[in-house]
Amino acid sequence: MTDRRTFIRDASSCAAHIALAAASTSWLARRAWAAPAGRIVAAEPFGRLEKVAEGVWALISTPLNNDRTTLSNGGLIAGRNGVIAIEGFMMPEGARWLANQSKTLTGKWPTHVAVTHYHADHANGVAGYMTESEHPRVHATQATRGAVLEKNQPAEANRTAALGDAVTLEPSSPTTVDLGGRAVKIIPRMGHTSSDITVEVEDPSVVFCGDLVWNGMIPNYVDAVPTKLAASVAALRRSRETNYVPGHGGLATEADVANYVAVLGEIEQAARRAIAAGQTPEQGAATFKLPPSLGEWILFSPAFHQRAFAAWARELGR
Ligand SMILES: [Zn+2]
Repeated sequence: MTDRRTFIRDASSCAAHIALAAASTSWLARRAWAAPAGRIVAAEPFGRLEKVAEGVWALISTPLNNDRTTLSNGGLIAGRNGVIAIEGFMMPEGARWLANQSKTLTGKWPTHVAVTHYHADHANGVAGYMTESEHPRVHATQATRGAVLEKNQPAEANRTAALGDAVTLEPSSPTTVDLGGRAVKIIPRMGHTSSDITVEVEDPSVVFCGDLVWNGMIPNYVDAVPTKLAASVAALRRSRETNYVPGHGGLATEADVANYVAVLGEIEQAARRAIAAGQTPEQGAATFKLPPSLGEWILFSPAFHQRAFAAWARELGR
């Protein structure tokens, strides 16, 4: 029973998705996935910290070896007076590791934390930022906070306390966090879940995308509303050179995001065709293949495609 419950719980996060990916992907593809793009300032089996720009670092997780300490990507943005850490990660040890990196790199423990959405691999370790003396302000939408507390079971007292004290973000307008000489915008969006945020800097141009963007890995559609996902991705793209930190996979350029949009488009077209032909998501997904021109996107297993087709069927009311 416990195993079954654990499976059902994990199936609603990105975690099960990625553990299965490790089993179904070739060693070569796994090695190539999430290759470094920036200067690496620290590395662990679960991930590495890459310098993206002055005062901006991305934590790129490498969980295909099944080390789930962090599992999702995240990062740090530093100003004169404070540092914002992005994501709570899978385990408190992951958040604690990033906080210690902040201390080493900037002299400061994070003063703020942003949790992009409720999925376990982005939220469950958030208490790792809290110590006897350090209590960064946690920023999350009301929807994210509510979903973590309700759905991410079993509950854990320190996580509940950290989220319980969170600053609630406006659901429909951006929040600006002033770190001293650096303004960070937290923008509410949706599509991967009912409530996602991006964390953005104008100069240098950096967008922490949460799970609205995946790089080299088919996204998890478990809670997705596909048309809203597409609209949010369109809205977060910029017309100038930008570093995009995806929720999973290596640092992304504009070209990588364009490729991701093409992947979403291929899934949409195939799902619409399947629905029009009266097929079930299982039937539609069974024959789905991305064109090789889009490169290698890991998790090419009918089970993951099926989840995407099911999201389209949900949205189109079939
Ligand atoms: Zn997610």
